[in-house]
Amino acid sequence: MSELVQLSEITKVYQGGVTGALNGVSLTVEEGEFTAVMGPSGSGKSTMLNPNLTALENVLIPAQLKSTSSAEARGRELLDELGIGEVADRYPARLSGGQQQRVAIARALINQPTLLLADEPTGALDTRSGDQVMELLMEVHRRGQTILLVTHDAKLATRYAARVISVLDGKIVDDARLETAERAATDVIRVRGEETRR
Ligand code: ADP
Repeated sequence: MSELVQLSEITKVYQGGVTGALNGVSLTVEEGEFTAVMGPSGSGKSTMLNPNLTALENVLIPAQLKSTSSAEARGRELLDELGIGEVADRYPARLSGGQQQRVAIARALINQPTLLLADEPTGALDTRSGDQVMELLMEVHRRGQTILLVTHDAKLATRYAARVISVLDGKIVDDARLETAERAATDVIRVRGEETRR
């Protein structure tokens, strides 16, 4: 197993910040894990997982979007896989919240990242669309994608992730491996599937 994320004693104080946003955080995430980072708003979750891009990396992002016919085929295939192939040529403003979130997931996956970082992916969605997005993340995870989910929602974290890291006041206060998380979520998907077939 290789380590995809390694933080060692990380401390972060924002300019003008009274207390540190992070206070000595150490964390290792292995390839293939579905890990949730959970904690109340302001606890330091986003700061902890900020994918810091250099100036050069920022400049290079659009270059990765350069459209080639193979990139377009891969994009359409991804949208198909995520169940929104039929809206591929529409503008996001004409899509539902759930469909927009699927587009965001497809955009995150097109360059085959080693790590998919999902920061409150269901935050703006109603329960049903949120569940669909989470089931999609489970499916992507089953195909081998490593996922780091950031959420304030304990129910969401424990239902979908196999490992839940709890953050409070810029510190990791708990790191739990849930043996049954994936099986439970798989059951939920299976039950729903049976319901729709009826
Ligand atoms: P979470 O993602 O858990 O809501 P954040 O990592 O966004 O928490 O924030 C942790 C702390 O750092 C909070 O107190 C927040 O106000 C502060 N903070 C976050 N971003 C900034 C910033 N750009 N400048 C100053 N303070 C910030």
